[in-house]
Amino acid sequence: MLDDTHRFLDLAAERLGLDADVRKSLKQADAEHVFQIELENGKAFQAYRVQHNNARGPYKGGIRYHQNVTLDEVRTLATLMSLKTAAVGLPLGGGKGGVAVNPRELTAEELEELTRKYVRALHQHIGPDKDVPAPDVNTDARIIDWMVHEYEELTGDTSHASFTGKSIEKGGSLGRDAATGRGGVLALTEWLTLEGNGDRPLTYAVQGFGNVGSFFAATTQEMQPDWILVAASDSEAAVYDPKGLDVDALQAYKADRGRFKNYDKAQTITNEDLLALDVDVLVLAGLEDAVNEQNMKSIKAKYLVEMANSPITYKAHEYLEGKRHVILPDIIANAGGVIVSYLEWVQNRAGEKWSKEKVNQRLAKYMKSATNDLYDYVTENHGVAMKEAGFVLALKKLYEK
Ligand code: NAD
Repeated sequence: MLDDTHRFLDLAAERLGLDADVRKSLKQADAEHVFQIELENGKAFQAYRVQHNNARGPYKGGIRYHQNVTLDEVRTLATLMSLKTAAVGLPLGGGKGGVAVNPRELTAEELEELTRKYVRALHQHIGPDKDVPAPDVNTDARIIDWMVHEYEELTGDTSHASFTGKSIEKGGSLGRDAATGRGGVLALTEWLTLEGNGDRPLTYAVQGFGNVGSFFAATTQEMQPDWILVAASDSEAAVYDPKGLDVDALQAYKADRGRFKNYDKAQTITNEDLLALDVDVLVLAGLEDAVNEQNMKSIKAKYLVEMANSPITYKAHEYLEGKRHVILPDIIANAGGVIVSYLEWVQNRAGEKWSKEKVNQRLAKYMKSATNDLYDYVTENHGVAMKEAGFVLALKKLYEK
């Protein structure tokens, strides 16, 4: 994953003529914090915070709880955050955190202890002007609220601007929960409109119906009622109905059972079947490397939206580009979350609370502008891959400030 990101970085840096020293520095984080968290009962977990680049502002990026978290993964995600905040024009840098833990195997008390100890280990390196973490896979507002509380106890900071993705009661922003999925719909809508396909009804499938994937579907219902969701999956199962799935029913089932297994209102298919469906749009909202050398030849969707970070490997990307699939790159397609995180941070610092309409309006402005920049660059530079174009736009802003 890290190698793939570095290959895209090299392509973009070469296109911009950046010299070797700059390229080297792009691949090196400013700081890497690697530590063990030991719970009172003796269980121990490896933890990380990588602060990649703060040339544009405080480091910004989520904290992931997942059994497969590694330092290389966190490095990659931190690098992508520096590019993402730059690509969409936020005055923030890039960072990422993670703990190698399966939170489903912890009790609520253990989860809280782990979370508070993560902040205790890091509190001198983070803060509203230094590094502002947020949720990511398997971390949510409840976990972020524990982090804010711990940080406040340790430092006396009461601004609540030390973390984003908080609950509304603790200073979170309206619209933050849906922001990443909503941003993806806005980016895809804008792209299709620029292409002259804005009004066309279409079918789509969502790989990974979690926070991002489910809000993508919910926003589509609200903003694009002619888009039909025909399949959705989680890590265990996929559900399929060529006539269209009921998004509300799927959300309710997931909220109740936590998984799609045994969902009986639609046909069950495998995750690989979902990726190979003959739909207009494939929304990749699970984890990294979902589309790879093994399955790339089965992809039929014309448009692929990278809602997860790095869901398409370098090799698969090269292959799909060659076959003229349109790939909306992660650093723009999934930037909605960090954009509204930024808006939350702005509200906290100003002591304000904005309406959902105001937040969504600002989100739309950022997403439209970034998608237009991408479209213009791809149109003006014939043959450039969209992913490479996204990286070029990010690097330009990173170096131009
Ligand atoms: P989540 O844990 O809420 O959802 C992930 C979903 O993907 C789950 O339903 C999981 O079962 C499913 N999944 C995992 N592996 C799968 C597989 N192989 N096949 C099918 N489904 C699979 O996490 P999330 O917050 O929705 O994040 C999803 C992705 O989006 C991650 O890559 C994350 O880094 C990225 N992202 C999230 C945000 C955010 O605001 N949450 C912002 C930007 C990017």
